[in-house]
Amino acid sequence: MRKTFSWRGIGAIPESGLRLKEEYAHLDAEIAYGDLLPAEKKEDHTACFCGEILRGKAEPTQCALFGKGCTPQHPVGACMVSSEGACHAYYRFRQV
Ligand code: SF4
Repeated sequence: MRKTFSWRGIGAIPESGLRLKEEYAHLDAEIAYGDLLPAEKKEDHTACFCGEILRGKAEPTQCALFGKGCTPQHPVGACMVSSEGACHAYYRFRQV
C-alpha cells in the first residue's frame, strides 16, 4: 500500500511512500510508537541545502556551514548525520 510521502528537497509525491499491509500492522513502528513520534516534521536549518545536494544541484563544499558549523560530530543537516550522507562522505574522504 502506498501513501503520500514528503521527500527531502523534492516535496510531497502522492503514492510514493510505502506502508505495511494490514496483516503486518502489528510490526508497523508508526503504529507501535506513534505516540513517541513528533507530530510535526522538524524543518531543516535555513542555511542547510541538503535538498539541492540530493538533487545534484550543489556540492557539499558550497555550503557555508560545511566543515565549520556542520561536521559529523555536530551535524546541522541530515546529509551530514549518517556515513552514507553526501556531506558526511565529502567530509570524511576529502579529509576536511
Ligand atoms: S548537512 Fe551540513 S554541510 Fe551539508 S548542506 Fe546541510 S548544513 Fe551544509
